[in-house]
Amino acid sequence: MKNLFKSIALIAVFAILITSCSKKNDQPADQEVKTEQKDKVLAYIKNLGFTDAQIVDKGDRYVVDGDMVVDKNMEIPADNGMPKTEQYYNGYLVTNSNNILVKVDASITSMAAEINAAIAQWNAVPNSKIKFVLTTGSTYDILIKVDNTIGASVCGQAYLSTSNGKAGSVVWINQALIQGNSFAQRTRTITHEFGHTISFKHTNQSTTINVPGVGGTDALSLMNGGQCGSGATVLSAKDKLATAALYPL
Ligand SMILES: [Zn+2]
Repeated sequence: MKNLFKSIALIAVFAILITSCSKKNDQPADQEVKTEQKDKVLAYIKNLGFTDAQIVDKGDRYVVDGDMVVDKNMEIPADNGMPKTEQYYNGYLVTNSNNILVKVDASITSMAAEINAAIAQWNAVPNSKIKFVLTTGSTYDILIKVDNTIGASVCGQAYLSTSNGKAGSVVWINQALIQGNSFAQRTRTITHEFGHTISFKHTNQSTTINVPGVGGTDALSLMNGGQCGSGATVLSAKDKLATAALYPL
């Protein structure tokens, strides 16, 4: 009887050891991989010129300078975000197509007029080959949708363009927050977020990549950050020059 007890006790101990070993081997390994990728992306964002104070950890993504979204699973480019050259962009142009397909999510169909007006602004830029094109199909580059939970004072958010030449894939609009703004200001928010999807960063931010020949400050820039409800409602002369410089005909 004593022996039986001993055996049972030993088996129990082994079972616990085996369980705890396999747990130790599984979990930390997974977490380590995630942490490493996360840290690489963080380093990449800092290489683009952002400070810790401008970067907010939001679970599966980082939100940079209020409204620019970078996925933690993003593929880090070989140059790790170092400028290719010197209004400001992230260094990654949309190259997979000159026609960027935009799908309007059912959540935001009530803002179709604002979306159309925003698209018309980008598409009217002289000497620029990049065009936003609405689609109702299942293949698209950008999904625009309502998300009223992105932040109490965040009017919109967008993914930046990616190192593999694609437009930022999602634009989130805080409709609850901007519905009291004028039509022109609501359109501004959408135009601004579309700008991020094709690589533009905030013009009023000093440590980023100048668009060649179009650097410097521009109070009239629609890509100035932190001006929801009060900023420029039309692309400035320099915004247009910058777009044409990045996406020449
Ligand atoms: Zn912005």
